[in-house]
Amino acid sequence: MAPSDSPVPVIGLTGGIASGKSTVGGMLAQLGAAVVDADQLAREVVALGTPGLQEVVAAFGKEVLDGEGRLDRGRLAGRVFADPEERRRLEQILHPRIAELARDRLAAARGQLAVYQAPLIFETGREGEFQGVLLVDCDPELQLARLRARDRLGEAGARARLAAQLPAAERRRRATWIVDNSGSLEDTRAQLHRLWEGDLAALRRSP
Ligand code: ADP
Repeated sequence: MAPSDSPVPVIGLTGGIASGKSTVGGMLAQLGAAVVDADQLAREVVALGTPGLQEVVAAFGKEVLDGEGRLDRGRLAGRVFADPEERRRLEQILHPRIAELARDRLAAARGQLAVYQAPLIFETGREGEFQGVLLVDCDPELQLARLRARDRLGEAGARARLAAQLPAAERRRRATWIVDNSGSLEDTRAQLHRLWEGDLAALRRSP
């Protein structure tokens, strides 16, 4: 996915699990950005009846499906989480399909600014593909609490997922802009508004 494929400027939006990427993506969409969500694309490429799902089943067996033949993402995640070899196998199936879909969606993006929302931008060394990367930062204990509440995870499970991610300091060092989502939604919205009228005003197209 190269931003030059898109008719509008593209920025990345990233952050740790449950830091608030979707929340911030929704706010940017309200401000007038076209948001492409990598997690959503990851669901689309393995939706019922897709070649992607067929490949996943060929690789991991029917036990990763639920009673209706849909992918049971929790079961699959549980299986690949602890096994780097299995995870690589899954990524080899998903990543090219997600990248292709992302390319299509960004090429079709309309509006003032396109936003590619993805958990792994720094980890995959892709920040150079964007005009800048906006990091959603969050106090780690708050992030843990939000993750547990949203995904109904126990303390150990939630901590394991957080530990698997890039250290926050490293992310902050690599970000172009940072929004701190440790406060209220209103507080986050105010920060985004300042960014939208500030640095992003120079970048985005006039409405
Ligand atoms: P991500 O997309 O990074 O995984 P989400 O946007 O889904 O994170 O946010 C994680 C959880 O925290 C969600 O349940 C969301 O509603 C909640 N949340 C996000 N930001 C705030 C906030 N500022 N105050 C309270 N709850 C929040």
